[in-house]
Amino acid sequence: MDDVSYIDSINNKINSYKDEMISSLSELVGMPAISPEIGGKGELERAGWITEFLKGIGVTEIKRYDYTDTTGATRPNIVSKVGTNKRTIWILCHMDTVAAGDLSLWKQDPFKAYVEDGKIYGRGTNDNGQSLIATLYAAKAIIELKVNLQYNFGMVFVADEEIGSHYGAERLAKEGIFGSDDMMLVPDWGVPTGDKIEIAEKSILWIKVTASGKQVHASTPEDGVNAYKLAVKFLNDLDDQLHSKYNVKDERFDYPVSSFEMTKHDKNVDSINIIPGKDVSYIDCRVLPNYKLDEVIADMKALAEKHSKKGKINIEVFNREDAAKPTDANSEIVQLLSKRINQIRKISVSTVGIGGGTVAKYFRDNGVPVAVWSTEDDVAHQPNEYSVIDALVSDSKVFASLVL
Ligand SMILES: [Zn+2]
Repeated sequence: MDDVSYIDSINNKINSYKDEMISSLSELVGMPAISPEIGGKGELERAGWITEFLKGIGVTEIKRYDYTDTTGATRPNIVSKVGTNKRTIWILCHMDTVAAGDLSLWKQDPFKAYVEDGKIYGRGTNDNGQSLIATLYAAKAIIELKVNLQYNFGMVFVADEEIGSHYGAERLAKEGIFGSDDMMLVPDWGVPTGDKIEIAEKSILWIKVTASGKQVHASTPEDGVNAYKLAVKFLNDLDDQLHSKYNVKDERFDYPVSSFEMTKHDKNVDSINIIPGKDVSYIDCRVLPNYKLDEVIADMKALAEKHSKKGKINIEVFNREDAAKPTDANSEIVQLLSKRINQIRKISVSTVGIGGGTVAKYFRDNGVPVAVWSTEDDVAHQPNEYSVIDALVSDSKVFASLVL
């Protein structure tokens, strides 16, 4: 069969799974997989369920990579494969979910899925349950149709994505499983129309700025050092300096320049008549991948030094995630994925860079080309999170067609 007739049979096959896919995703919602580091039960129950599913559809190559977290809990990761080719296209999903948050904002129990208006509601339905179920049913279709595989259909189910990937993708990427000959799809970001493939991410840098002076009564400013005033002058200068120096435009990104935004400000004094001796604020930076975060931090520290005369400005890195080298828009995985989306959906797709970070970076860092794509509404981590059933079914078809 050529790939066009295979695509027809994949379409029909996966359409026939629709009801099963809905009940599988609903079952998954009933197995909360919140990190034990924030009091959850972790991913073990889901890992067991996925393993049984894979065995049930006849997958034989199923490997576990378990890591122990700071609470002593086992954090499971599953690496599984269909086919015996040299090269593999891996689809990587995460099993963990965030907590439900404020229960009063949910219309129903977040861990009891329900269907309404073509959507499945529940915590983790969108992030990352939809893609996880779409991947499993794509494997089922490939096996039942006895597809002539050009590449192996690889499946990776990781733990700990929501808290930092220390017991998931970050460790797994270093196990020597994924070669630079392989390709990867991370279906954990997307737009509702499904016509954008993410190939680049910015570095993320969170900075804590502490200004220290001397607290006095507001009527005698000459006796003290106003830490708030110190901070304002510094932050103003810093804002000018960063924006004029780091001004490169990269049109791959929707927001094409680096961003440096003052965000949170800690409470300083209780009273209007007190000059604060300490002032703490924060900056969120999203830096284009052509810049090095070390340079940005060094610039901040040098300017802080300049402003530290009467008082002192201290710069601390609260969190940093250095961006990986972007995946080439002309790479095989991006081209192949675009072609299949076009064949199945009759839409044309474009590539894009985002200001957030996904687990793609751990693999891009190791030279694996990674496309980030799925079809989803922006409802991850929100109350009444849902997955659109049409997207669930249609994404599964695209996944299955990649290995033709
Ligand atoms: Zn996610």
